[in-house]
Amino acid sequence: MKIIVIGGGIGGYTAAIKAAQVKADVILIEKGKLGGTCLNRGCIPTKAFLHDAHIIDAVHTSKALGIFDSVPNHNVQAIIDRKDAVVSRLRDGIASLCKANKIELIEDEASFIDEHSLLLKSRNEKITADIIIIATGSQPHRLPIEGAQSEEIWTSDDCFDTPIQPGEHVCLIGGGVIGVELATFYKSIGCNVTVIEAQKRILPSLDKDAANQLATMLKKQSVTILTNAVVDRIIPIHPYQVICHVNGIEHKISADRIIQSVGRKAVFSELKPENAHIETTKVIKVNEAYQTNIPHIYAIGDVNGQCWLAHGAAAQAKVAVEHIFHPDKPVHPLLIPSVVYSDPQIASIGLDENSAKEQNIEIKTGKFLVSANGKHVVEGKDRGFIKVITDTDNRILGATIFSHLASEMIPYLTQAIITKQTLESLEPVVFPHPTIVESLEDAMADVLGLAIHSFPKVR
Ligand SMILES: Cc1cc2nc3c(=O)[nH]c(=O)nc-3n(C[C@H](O)[C@H](O)[C@H](O)COP(=O)(O)OP(=O)(O)OC[C@H]3O[C@@H](n4cnc5c(N)ncnc54)[C@H](O)[C@@H]3O)c2cc1C
Repeated sequence: MKIIVIGGGIGGYTAAIKAAQVKADVILIEKGKLGGTCLNRGCIPTKAFLHDAHIIDAVHTSKALGIFDSVPNHNVQAIIDRKDAVVSRLRDGIASLCKANKIELIEDEASFIDEHSLLLKSRNEKITADIIIIATGSQPHRLPIEGAQSEEIWTSDDCFDTPIQPGEHVCLIGGGVIGVELATFYKSIGCNVTVIEAQKRILPSLDKDAANQLATMLKKQSVTILTNAVVDRIIPIHPYQVICHVNGIEHKISADRIIQSVGRKAVFSELKPENAHIETTKVIKVNEAYQTNIPHIYAIGDVNGQCWLAHGAAAQAKVAVEHIFHPDKPVHPLLIPSVVYSDPQIASIGLDENSAKEQNIEIKTGKFLVSANGKHVVEGKDRGFIKVITDTDNRILGATIFSHLASEMIPYLTQAIITKQTLESLEPVVFPHPTIVESLEDAMADVLGLAIHSFPKVR
């Protein structure tokens, strides 16, 4: 079977490798850099930056503790160079994996000619396949207002590939996940940071307690957060200006750099899906197996608009390839955690309190303050909590972790939800001490009012 995958991001290369493992004849077409958004302009560069930001923060904290007597200057160019080295090492790794799996890699832009054939733009060549997987991803959205289309105004794409320093005052439009992560980085390297958010709080789709506590912590670190702030226009001449209104009052924010982090949009117009009669809205429409209305054409990752996360794209890739080879096997819905790599991180999975209320689901909650965890105190971490939600039979339905290492802890609860574990069935699991992850035990026990390291609710 000949399979063509369009797009070499995390969704596309995962699908290509998965298909090659079952001995399909696979071609992977990428018009830009292998690794796509996640590796070149997304997950990996932000996390490389944030890693270095944490080192800078740790040096400042260590000085406050008297461990160092001064704080050395940091070098922003070295941070960018290290990020580049990380990205190119991982990109080489993906190229080697493709080669080892005998995947033919074509560097070109593909567009549909018809349901089975594609045109390669630079080569002006037609190629055909039995199965086509679209994994063309997404790109940053820009606000439909005056000044926002100017190239002077950055999106997240411009934060990584440019040698230009952001300047003294950085203004981020959008307090979602990307805005908050960039704000965390820029404040750590010494910029004055303003975050403008149209909704009543930053991270509006996440747990309210976690989002509000993070906002308080960022404000303490001199990040200005303007909420309920609707941006009217941008003046794209340095010093750049954002004109917005908050409760009817106009505000003007002047900045050396303005970055729009206002969501992403699916990339498929150049692909000409209409030539293959593929149904689209703002995204490519798919069913539960990530199959489009044309049965031999699949669409995975950001382009189908279901998840907008790298691990979601990779998971969808595996489901789609499994469906290609075993179309009669049932498809199980994916349970995908989300993480904000702020400091502390926020990781969440499954049901949250608000959704439970909206859906009239009766729940019980347990909450553990991680400031009572020994390892947390050893590492000098600030506040945080773990919230666990169960049904009335103590079956775990969801969780939010607002803590250092939250991203590493959330898979435990994801697995507990998928395997329908109750609090009682997990009791024999013993966590090593001292670890941050052992806080999960207290958070789960708190649902029953039995956490060891929390004060009793009723005496
Ligand atoms: C700043 C930032 C931080 C992020 N951090 C995280 C994070 O920490 N964790 C997380 O899970 N997600 C994160 N994301 C989201 C994550 O990057 C995306 O969800 C993920 O990259 C989607 O993968 P994909 O394979 O669907 O698409 P992409 O990674 O966008 O890859 C699509 C590829 O297709 C290629 N392409 C497009 N059209 C064509 C064509 N016609 N022919 C050939 N090639 C084509 C593109 O060049 C691109 O390389 C972040 C995103 C951003 C912007």
